[in-house]
Amino acid sequence: MIRNLSIKILVDNKSGNEMLHSEHGLSFWIEADERRIVFDTGKSDILIGNAEVLGIDLRTAGTMILSHGHYDHTGGVAAVRGLNPEISVYCHPGIFIPRYSRQTDGKMKPIGINENASNELHKMIDRIHWINEPFYLSDDIGITGPIPRLSDFEDTGGSFFLDPEAQRPDPISDDLALWFKTTKGIVVVTGCCHSGIVNTLEYIQTITGDKNILTVLGGLHLLNASLERLEKSCEYLNRAVSGKIYPCHCTGDKAIGFLRTRFHDRIIVGNVGASFQF
Ligand SMILES: [Zn+2]
Ligand SMILES: [Zn+2]
Repeated sequence: MIRNLSIKILVDNKSGNEMLHSEHGLSFWIEADERRIVFDTGKSDILIGNAEVLGIDLRTAGTMILSHGHYDHTGGVAAVRGLNPEISVYCHPGIFIPRYSRQTDGKMKPIGINENASNELHKMIDRIHWINEPFYLSDDIGITGPIPRLSDFEDTGGSFFLDPEAQRPDPISDDLALWFKTTKGIVVVTGCCHSGIVNTLEYIQTITGDKNILTVLGGLHLLNASLERLEKSCEYLNRAVSGKIYPCHCTGDKAIGFLRTRFHDRIIVGNVGASFQF
């Protein structure tokens, strides 16, 4: 069991403090007993300055986990490598695939990993652990690998495609989540949660054989979710999660408002600089 788990938000869409920069992206600094983890890296290199302000030394991290190949989670890879070239990397091989999102005006926007981050990751290729299935960093820390999509009301949360002609939908099968077994229950950390929060939690319960989920922290990508999906997700979260829920990044203001109507003060919205202990 992890005795001391601390999660600090390095990058998020909103900042809690004028000294800290925000951007559309996500990055967490995680200390789990002795282990230090960078989970996602935001869109640019702002995690460097934010880490300095927060008194975090990125050079002391042994592990970098990339939740999926979108630009807003991988954009700071070069910055992390610059400070910490020996860091071990964990991600799915799909991280390099070109990806697109169809905007409301019909235009296609490239949203895959940017060229610079891709080049930097290729320079670290011998330190990348490819995660194609559930992986244990230790007895009490795991990475899900690709998450089976079993629930009938969840989708990837947007108009995502593998080609600029919008012919091939992107299942974002590289999407993965991280979990920690603590003395109070399982703490789940998500990137964008394109697999859906119900699918993600169900899979972690299957992998660990443990139903006791304490909390969920990260992007939930519910900004385009239907009322039906929101209702069903909340119903599930209410049954599955015993503690608070920490929506960040791409969860969406409307969805957060909805979550608040169901969970009230059990919802703690993340922002840059926020720090949580479990
Ligand atoms: Zn994202
Ligand atoms: Zn994403």
